[in-house]
Amino acid sequence: MIKAEHIVKDFGSIKVLKDVSLQINQGEVVVVIGPSGSGKSTFLRCLNLLERPTSGTVMVDEHNMTAMKPKQVIKVREKVGMVFQHFYLFPHKTVLDNLIYAPMKVKGLSKEEAVKKAEELLNKVGLLEKKNQYPNKLSGGQKQRVAIARSLAMEPDYMLFDEPTSALDPEMVKEVLDVIQSLAESGMTMIIVTHEMGFAKQVANKVVFMDDGRILESNTPEAFFSNPTTERAKDFLEKIL
Ligand code: ADP
Ligand code: MG
Repeated sequence: MIKAEHIVKDFGSIKVLKDVSLQINQGEVVVVIGPSGSGKSTFLRCLNLLERPTSGTVMVDEHNMTAMKPKQVIKVREKVGMVFQHFYLFPHKTVLDNLIYAPMKVKGLSKEEAVKKAEELLNKVGLLEKKNQYPNKLSGGQKQRVAIARSLAMEPDYMLFDEPTSALDPEMVKEVLDVIQSLAESGMTMIIVTHEMGFAKQVANKVVFMDDGRILESNTPEAFFSNPTTERAKDFLEKIL
């Protein structure tokens, strides 16, 4: 379980998160939507303490992340994988080397173990035949699938996705969403920031609508999409649907 309580985040005088609380239970898929600048990325980054909240508590399982020293945070953060809009693969490493680096360096896996695991994951995302390629030889969709596999190679209990398809050409969106959907079906606990509403309807257990640093609505996808209760959410949905 990830539990955020009363998260406030200021950057200097700018108030970005204004008392955000959210609990994600084991096996749940929560989709976060909302206008640009509403604080979605900042909130995700607070959940694994890439950003330290100004106040409030983040619990990951029994660990109080916000009460921890940076060194302990790094350890718990291994449980929480994150995938970004821009893939941040290591450009000078092959696909396989991208996947084995952290498991060997951080988890202490032998090269043999790490390669075995990496090949399984590349097979899962349909890219085993690209294992010896460098990232610049891959399409955007392929890069993002590698980034997802790389994150999974650390065997996280939770996955955070921050607009994983926003930087992709339209024809590559589906291959990435399919990978995320199959992860959802395998029971992975996930929080996904996305503007893909069809996808949200299909995979989310819960949709959270953020605006101006607050969660305005939190509901099942059926209820949210058929009957948003706030004007802001109605307005947002009209603009993007
Ligand atoms: P979203 O992901 O919903 O588009 P963000 O979380 O990226 O929103 O940003 C929310 C607000 O916080 C924006 O106004 C942005 O400019 C501001 N912000 C984000 N990161 C920083 C930072 N490091 N320093 C100052 N302002 C920031
Ligand atoms: Mg963002």
